[in-house]
Amino acid sequence: MNVDIEPETGSDAALRAAGLKVLDLQKGTINTNLCVLVCVTCEGGVHKKSPIVHSQTHGIKLTKQHITDLTKLIPTLRLASETTDFVSPPNDQAPIDYIKIQDGLKCNGCSYVCRTPKTMAHHWSNVHKGEGSPDYSKSKVQTVFAKRPKFFSVLPVLTGLASDDMYRLYLSQCLPEITAADQKIIPAISQNEVPPLLRVTLWHEHLERFTKDKVSVRNVRLLIDTMNASKKTPWLGKPLYSTISSYMLDIKTKMKKILIPARMLLMQYPV
Ligand SMILES: [Zn+2]
Ligand SMILES: [Zn+2]
Repeated sequence: MNVDIEPETGSDAALRAAGLKVLDLQKGTINTNLCVLVCVTCEGGVHKKSPIVHSQTHGIKLTKQHITDLTKLIPTLRLASETTDFVSPPNDQAPIDYIKIQDGLKCNGCSYVCRTPKTMAHHWSNVHKGEGSPDYSKSKVQTVFAKRPKFFSVLPVLTGLASDDMYRLYLSQCLPEITAADQKIIPAISQNEVPPLLRVTLWHEHLERFTKDKVSVRNVRLLIDTMNASKKTPWLGKPLYSTISSYMLDIKTKMKKILIPARMLLMQYPV
């Protein structure tokens, strides 16, 4: 079988030599027809006026031909050079290739994203004054330019998934609903309050007669203490221990047969 490989042009070779990539922002998640020059070492955008100087900061020595080719190429591209040149992508999309993925924070009151709790506290006091203490979640974040950054949250798990992929649709359509439902559970106001799970299962009522004194409480606890399977009273905890072991083995066998996105789903929301 013949495979046609496009020959590398002078500008391709110059970009490669300079450690740069031209990222088409329209092909990614940013809705604009701009491109950006990205340094593969810094994993961030480079100003259109300084690609040659930038590559030199990494100790790269370009040939005269590379410099000529780069100088010719740059004016032919419509390049973004700073954050304000384009609209950032919406939060929670797949990461943009070649851009550094960092640990950050996402505001739960609006779409604001930043890196540190201090910046988030500042945002909260400016935008959400009177709405209580800062409410935010940890998230993976990116910014195209490190200088005057504009962060947006990304979901690395979406990397390489098509726009109509089932797991991707689940994350975009169902996950916000599940997260919102999670937030409806009001934290306990007293240590004696019956937890939500017990309110449904009523285990504490079923076990009431076994919780009258310390000895009976201890005996009930021993039944679920799997460590007892190897101690003085091997029969205690053994049924639970073997149930859990066979369950884990069964899951292990099944996990090997399913696709990675489904595996991720099970790890995030185990039944
Ligand atoms: Zn760099
Ligand atoms: Zn906010």
